[in-house]
Formats: sequence, structure tokens, C-alpha cells
Amino acid sequence: MLYSFRKELNDAINRGFDRTLRLAVTGLSRSGKTAFITSLINQLLNIDRNDNNHLPLFEAAHNNTIIGVKRIAQSDLSVSRFDYEGNIQALNEIPPQWPKSTEGVSETRLAIRYQRQSGLMRHFKEKGTLYLDIFDYPGEWLLDLPLLNLSYVQWSQQQQSLLQGKRQELAQNWLEKVKKLDLSAVVNEDILAQLAKDYTVFLFDCKAEGLHFIQPGRFVLPRELENAPILQFFPLVHLNQSQLLQLQQNAKEGSYFKVLTQRYDYYCQHVVKGFYHRYFSTIDRQVVLADCLTPLNYSQQAFLDMQQVLQQLFSNFHYGKRSLIHRLFSPRIDKLMFIATKADHITTDQLPNLISLMRQLLQEGGRHAEYEGIDTEYTAIAAIRATKQWMIKQDGKRIYALQGIRSSDKQQVTLYPGSVPSRLPNKQFWQNQNFEFDQFEPQPLDNSSVIPHLRMDSVLQFLLSDKL
Ligand code: GDP
Repeated sequence: MLYSFRKELNDAINRGFDRTLRLAVTGLSRSGKTAFITSLINQLLNIDRNDNNHLPLFEAAHNNTIIGVKRIAQSDLSVSRFDYEGNIQALNEIPPQWPKSTEGVSETRLAIRYQRQSGLMRHFKEKGTLYLDIFDYPGEWLLDLPLLNLSYVQWSQQQQSLLQGKRQELAQNWLEKVKKLDLSAVVNEDILAQLAKDYTVFLFDCKAEGLHFIQPGRFVLPRELENAPILQFFPLVHLNQSQLLQLQQNAKEGSYFKVLTQRYDYYCQHVVKGFYHRYFSTIDRQVVLADCLTPLNYSQQAFLDMQQVLQQLFSNFHYGKRSLIHRLFSPRIDKLMFIATKADHITTDQLPNLISLMRQLLQEGGRHAEYEGIDTEYTAIAAIRATKQWMIKQDGKRIYALQGIRSSDKQQVTLYPGSVPSRLPNKQFWQNQNFEFDQFEPQPLDNSSVIPHLRMDSVLQFLLSDKL
């Protein structure tokens, strides 16, 4: 007892009553980052000492530990501010609109005033503030990490092995032009820029087909690097190994091959490494969002591609002492949460299947990966719940259904969206696939202005409870 009291007191003194927690949120475009952060801020701002019915699973809201929450100026002034007000405004429109997705990085800071209500420190009536920095960045940028381990020639070979099925079809226009290029000739900057543009169009076309394994990630989300020569390169996927090695040995300075190699190296050193150095080493806790339902609407190739992407994202947090990320950036993340988003597209009885499917997607064969010293959790949520659950009785059986405004025709519909496979779907599934997840429009906010959600309280409990 005495020991634990002393320890608690020491801990409090060591960290002071004011603390900062840097929470990073990532996921591919349209995985739900903007909706997630908007809802997270909204749930916290609406904590009220009298009524916290919107967060039944978040203890600090219930036992009155949290006194109040407000938004304050962010700590990193060079990063775009997360547009919370604009997003709430969109949800308050008639009819309500989805907030506009963020691109690139954005940041926001909340001050959470609290007073301990449990544990030995409650006797000290001191109040503290937890400064919560929420920082979001595109998952696409994380897909670039392995480039740091590959030379230009190796990367070209790896891209060649990916060029199958739909990807091969989509690559034709760009590929035909690259084949005509004499790679040992002196570079023409305009031709190179045009070919890089064609390659970028190909990457966007892949995305439109639900194929998300895209490298280099900045090509589809360039932000301030748009049209910069640093993004004007592409892999050589039409040459075999010996042709590539021959070029590597013989190509002269100023040739296409040399310039492509230099641009690739520069991209790795400055863009990829720069990103990890600047942001990654400062993160305390990380949330990775994944929309595992939409790929089920596409094809087996889109689904397998998603698996590859998630495993790639996941490998960023797979810190073995010998891992690339550990060696280069010494990250300090202590909690990691993988979240399947948009869970209001399915009925609640299907949530365990969705979580299980995400785990399968993340970890090949569902094996448990090792995380050294990282507390990891998997869950499924709806940040902005657009549907209501209904229970219909048919022939004495209970059937769960969803009701919401369908985005495609803006009609109110009641439907049973089908069951989610709990394991990676096999060939048969794709042959009989009858999956059609509709998009829904957000519901109007009621007088309380609290965003309706599904399980955001369990997310807050995991991410924040030990800091309050
Ligand atoms: P981002 O690109 O990762 O920031 O993704 P967004 O948060 O902008 O989400 C992209 C789209 O997914 C939104 O416009 C919505 O159509 C949908 N969406 C996101 N979150 C939810 C959710 O909780 N429920 C539902 N039904 N749709 C969602």
C-alpha cells in the first residue's frame, strides 16, 4: 500500500500534473480519418459533468474525472490546422454533408482538465491538464518505408512483379511510351516529366479500381511537391535483371537511367526519411484506420491488394530491434490501435466478424505479431454513425437490419447488408459474392450537437484512461 502510494506520488511528481500526449491517426484516403478525428474531438468537447450518456464505456467521463475540454492553439505551427469547425458545419447543413477529407498532414490540440476521482492521488485534489495533440497523416506515405531498403534497380524489379491483372491493363499507355525510351541517351527533362505524369495517371487509375498498394505514396498525395522534379521518376518494369544491371554499370551521367536513379535516391533520402524523422519519432500513441468493407465490393485482386497494404502499414509498427524503422528512427509508441471503420454499414451481430477479418488482413494467417513493449488493441467503430439498427421479426425469427439515407439515390432504405466473412474470403466467396455495401448520408445532429457514434467511447478508454 505504502509502496504503491509512494510510486503514484513519484509518478505524479515526475511528470507533473500537466502532461502532453501526441496521438497520431493514419489510414489510406477515405479510410475515415477526418470523420474519426472530428468525432473524437466532438465526443470530448461534449463531456459534461451531469450527462455523459454518449460515452458509456469511457470511465473518465463517467466518474467525473474530466472537468472540461477545450480546443487550444496547436504546438506545431507549420502544420495545417484540422478544420473541426468546418466539419461540424458540414454535418449541420440541411441535409447534413460528410466533412471534406483532409489531405496531407493536419494537427489539432485539446486541453483536457481533470481531477483524479480514483486511486490514491484523488486525496490531493490537485487538478491537472492533459494536452492532447491529434495529428493525422496519410497512410499512403507509410507505404514508402520499404523503399529505404531498396535500390532503384531492386525497386523496379519489385514493381515488375506487381504488374499483373488489372494493374497490367491500366499500365499500358505509360508502359508503351517507356519502352520506346533509350535509357542511355541524354535526358530530355520534358519527356521525363511527361512520362512521370503518365505514371501518376496510372497510379490514380489503380486507386480508382480499389488497388491501394501504390508506391511512391507521394505521387498520389503530393501536397507541396506537386510538379516538383523530385516526383518525376518511375520504375523500369519492362527490363529484366541483366538489362537493368547492364544499365547500372554502363549508363553515363546525365542519361535517363542515371537521372531516374538519382531522383529515386533523392526521394528516399529527403521525402521518405524526412517524413519519418520529422513526425514519426514524436508520436506517443498511434491509431491505424482501415475500411475493410469497401474492398469486398470490388474484386479479389482489390481485396488481396488491401491485404498487402495493411500488412505494409502494420510492418511500420512491428518494432523488432533489428527492424528498419527501429534502426532509423527509434520510435517511442506505447499504444497502438487498429480500427475497422464504418461499422454502421453492418449490423452489430457482424462486428466480431469484422474485427476478425481485419486481424486476418493485418497478420498473415492471423498469427500474432510481436510488438516490443506496445499495448495493441483491435476494434471496429463508426465515428459518425449514419444508420440506425432495426430488429425485424420474420417467421418468428429475429433479423437485424439497418435503416439510413442511401447516398446513391438519397432515399431512406431499410436493408440487411449481408454477413461479413470472419476469415479471408476464398475463391468460392468471390464467385458467389453478393456483397453490396451502400454508402449512407450522415444523420442530422440533435440539439445536444453530439455526433452519433458506435464504440468511440471504447477507443477513448483505451487511448486516454491511463493518462487521466
Ligand atoms: P479520410 O480520407 O481518411 O479522411 O476519410 P473520411 O473521414 O473523409 O471518410 C471518407 C468517407 O467515408 C466519408 O465521406 C463517408 O462517406 C465515409 N465514412 C467515414 N466514416 C464513416 C462512418 O463512421 N460511417 C459511415 N457510414 N461512413 C463513414
